Amino acid sequence: MNAVRLNGDSLTGVVKIGGARGNSVTSLVRDMAERIRSGERWVLVHGASGYMEDLCRATEIEPVYVTSPSGYRSRFVGEKEMALFLAACGNYSLRITQEFGECGLWGLPLYPGPGTTAGASRKDVLRSQENGRVRLLRGNRSGTIVSFDTTPILRAWNAGAVPLLPPLAADEAGPDALNVDGDRMAAAAASALGADVLVILSNVPGLLRDGSDPDSVVDRAGLDEWDVLESYAKGNMKRKLLAAKEALLGGVPRSIIADSRVMDPLTSALSGRGTELCPTSMAAVV
Ligand code: ADP
Repeated sequence: MNAVRLNGDSLTGVVKIGGARGNSVTSLVRDMAERIRSGERWVLVHGASGYMEDLCRATEIEPVYVTSPSGYRSRFVGEKEMALFLAACGNYSLRITQEFGECGLWGLPLYPGPGTTAGASRKDVLRSQENGRVRLLRGNRSGTIVSFDTTPILRAWNAGAVPLLPPLAADEAGPDALNVDGDRMAAAAASALGADVLVILSNVPGLLRDGSDPDSVVDRAGLDEWDVLESYAKGNMKRKLLAAKEALLGGVPRSIIADSRVMDPLTSALSGRGTELCPTSMAAVV
């Protein structure tokens, strides 16, 4: 994945917002709109978990989650689940497009197909660690990003649009779309664009030393402190940390994990609230 360097001094960033309930997309879009009007360039990557849960409930499809032997939790995406996941992504993209419309901006969802951004390799078989044994689940329709083409994003910017990326990629080996992790999609986009910053917004104030204490946010840390950071992260936070690290290793100078539930969540994250991660050591503050 080769990074393109964009011309000009204006800040270029990628922001990811979770799809879970409690994430405030309205505040984010308003904040982004202000910043875009001042000349910054932003890509918005979104999750879809809240809409997916609603659709699973409405169709009485029980979501299946697995924890891999290396401790990462993910959703099994069979054929039925993929149909729902595409609908969930569409519902959220549409909502965000409408929010940008309210602010007088054009939010442009970029879906796999002609003009694809991410390409992924399919993980057909998921390994699930259950009671000390490993179970294999076949027919999975999710994948890991292996390539990222920035052309559709650059075109969208040139046309005056705000590129919106759902957590979907084109299967490198076939015609289908695959479900990919949104945090890692955002990291791939930020690296490929040569962005100045990756911001991952979620329903927590940042990386917490103690998951039950919202005042225990890690303010800043560097790649050298990663083992300590990983020891704090449980569940889905592990993947956010992985995404933050992938962006730093991909040449992005700042990855920030911050709260989406505050006023102006992007400006707040950029001005020091949340957990700022950078390539150099910050040993004194972990
Ligand atoms: P999103 O839907 O925004 O992508 P998730 O809910 O999947 O977000 O992941 C964030 C969750 O990670 C938090 O709600 C929290 O429950 C969990 N978590 C686990 N460990 C930590 C930690 N050390 N600091 C903050 N959150 C943590």
